[in-house]
Amino acid sequence: MEHKIRRKLIFKGKVQGVGFRPTIYSIAKKLGLTGMVLNSPDGVIAEIEGIPSQVEKFLPLVNSKQMQNAKILRVETTDLPPIGYMSFRILPSANTGKKTVHIPPDIGTCKECEKEMFSTKDRRFGYPFINCTVCGPRFSIIKDVPFDRAKTSMSVFHMCSLCEYEYSDPNNRRFHDESNACDDCGPHVFLLDNYGKRVETLDPILRAVQFLKEGKILAVKGFTGYHIFCDASNPKAIEELRKRKNIIDRPLSLMCYSLKEIKSFVKVTDKESEMLQSSPRPIVILKKRKGILLPENIALKSENLGVMLPFCPIHYLLVKDNFLALVVTSGNRTGEPITKDNDKAIKYLGGIADYFLVDDRKIINRSDDSIIRVLKNKPLKIRRSRGFVPDPIRIFSESVPSIFATGAQKGNIFGISKGKSAILSQYIGDLSIHDTQAFYRKSILQMQSLFKVKPEIVVFEQNEKSYSYKFAKSIHGVKHVPVLHHHAHIASVMAEHNISGNVIGVALDSQGSGIYVGDLTNFVKKGGFTQINLPSISSPKDISKIALAILFQTFGEEVTKVKIDFIKKRINDLKEVKRYLADKNSLKISDSLVSLFDTIACVTGLCEESNYTGQTIIELESIASGKGYKSYDFDVTNDNVIDTFALIREIIQDIKSSVPVENISYKFHNTLGKAIAKACKTISKEQKIKKVCLSGGLFQNFLLLEACIRELKKVRLEVYFNEKVPSNNGGIALGQIKIAKAVLENLSR
Ligand SMILES: [Zn+2]
Ligand SMILES: [Zn+2]
Repeated sequence: MEHKIRRKLIFKGKVQGVGFRPTIYSIAKKLGLTGMVLNSPDGVIAEIEGIPSQVEKFLPLVNSKQMQNAKILRVETTDLPPIGYMSFRILPSANTGKKTVHIPPDIGTCKECEKEMFSTKDRRFGYPFINCTVCGPRFSIIKDVPFDRAKTSMSVFHMCSLCEYEYSDPNNRRFHDESNACDDCGPHVFLLDNYGKRVETLDPILRAVQFLKEGKILAVKGFTGYHIFCDASNPKAIEELRKRKNIIDRPLSLMCYSLKEIKSFVKVTDKESEMLQSSPRPIVILKKRKGILLPENIALKSENLGVMLPFCPIHYLLVKDNFLALVVTSGNRTGEPITKDNDKAIKYLGGIADYFLVDDRKIINRSDDSIIRVLKNKPLKIRRSRGFVPDPIRIFSESVPSIFATGAQKGNIFGISKGKSAILSQYIGDLSIHDTQAFYRKSILQMQSLFKVKPEIVVFEQNEKSYSYKFAKSIHGVKHVPVLHHHAHIASVMAEHNISGNVIGVALDSQGSGIYVGDLTNFVKKGGFTQINLPSISSPKDISKIALAILFQTFGEEVTKVKIDFIKKRINDLKEVKRYLADKNSLKISDSLVSLFDTIACVTGLCEESNYTGQTIIELESIASGKGYKSYDFDVTNDNVIDTFALIREIIQDIKSSVPVENISYKFHNTLGKAIAKACKTISKEQKIKKVCLSGGLFQNFLLLEACIRELKKVRLEVYFNEKVPSNNGGIALGQIKIAKAVLENLSR
């Protein structure tokens, strides 16, 4: 008989909570190997014993096996003397006190579970908590690592004998499925009215469907938080939802059962369809088809529509065979975090939803839908949250001390570093809101406890008024590293693309516009756009006064002679605007392009009110159309400052000549691209730098992003932008972490 050998393998990466051990088990069995496999804080540890030729086949087979949702980053192997394993077994998790293991993100319901859920013969027919080793809740139910049932909110549900059998049978697809459950032993749904009183019904889901069909608004608890739903074919229900949630103009999103329904509303490319079906089931922003049969008020004034497939079983059970589409929005009040607890849902969403479809499983970590938009086959993130969090993003070549990055004040996502990676939080939101601050603090503690990190370094935004600044300063016994907002934006691109050394950074967001030169430790402004005086008007919604102030600065007293409708209509406000402009104490000076977009939206008659963040930027992009990259003349000063007033004068000429807003907007976007490229080219020549990084929330306007990429490439510069993290504030923490490490390295030199 041939001699045996034993080999120990430690698999690192995304290998827990994704059905990895059963796969290892079946491969070992197939090769006639004995040994064991277990989850440990270091990763998945396997030992295999057998004749050398079979042992050699093991790892290539594991690597070749396309495991859904699993991702092996590294395998450490050691050969050891054989110890005579009799069989191959999956052992209970090893708990060595160290906790470095990967925590899997939540995974959308898989095809097989979907099939079982709709099969009348299956014992889980219609069961809204069906899941298996490749799908189901993960991050949302985990309290501590490793990912074992006892350490999740499933611990209170004791498996029945059938579930227990599946859990222990290596040949079953629920073998070691930590959230395995059925109607006999697992969580249940029930229906409440908006006072929290139970609605008596034998079938809460069927009753919920009936309510939706009657035009009612429902709050529905999913794996990771509440959503608000209404019937997408019912304009009255949509109107009511808009009113109750105070969503005036913002486009709403849809949930459809399958790609077939989605394709009847929007155009879907292969990449987009791949994204829709991917395990995080993000909302994907897609182009509307012409003449679709949907109420107007779903997405007013937008060529795009956000669409998602069902994420968890309850979504399937609601939408399949019942609705062509449901309108879906986050279960929160505007700006507040998504709701996760039943009592809070009634309290906070009672004024929005008529009924609540809730369950008796606790959500530990809530997260909002992720949002993706595809640019030329590249899926870019608008929001990185459910299904992506807490996947690590590797940004260092060696382990770094633990860093906590506060993120930005608005649209907050914070981050921690662990080893060579950054781990970004779920979407937190606006830190000026009290409840969001509490969610922020709690999530920070939770993330640090899950990943067992105690920060030695705190990196934060240099903005004394912000909550994150105060929070950072309240942490003692750590090194504090302040970072400028735009620097963090540009560094997020450098981190993603592993760029070191000097770059030209173009940062465009609501805080300002800047063209910078620098690396991770130095960052100097070299250009941008004209500084404009902005009146501190009481209502930020009222952009017409901003526009009037900018027009006054463009034309001076001659503004009254500019013959366009907007000025004729608003001329009576000029006195008030001039008074504001004369009040030097309240005046804001800004070079942000947001007010330029606002002005163009006003003068073209597109809109004179901004009811949600970025409205004019989104609407001007949406309406733009034209050919041949036509643009306006533009001026760039010797200091590389792009003259905003000259651009406005050009646009006013077009308005006087009755050029349609579609073409004006198109030319405007192209002009921005060309002007930015020209300024960058000059800086590139002076500084001998070829790499340009683009970041900041304005780059979520794809027309602007594309124009910049195209024009920068035309002048032979290398262009980089955010792909793994959003270009808005959702990417700030990544940049902060990258900078903090570089700053400290510099200091210690
Ligand atoms: Zn499944
Ligand atoms: Zn059961």
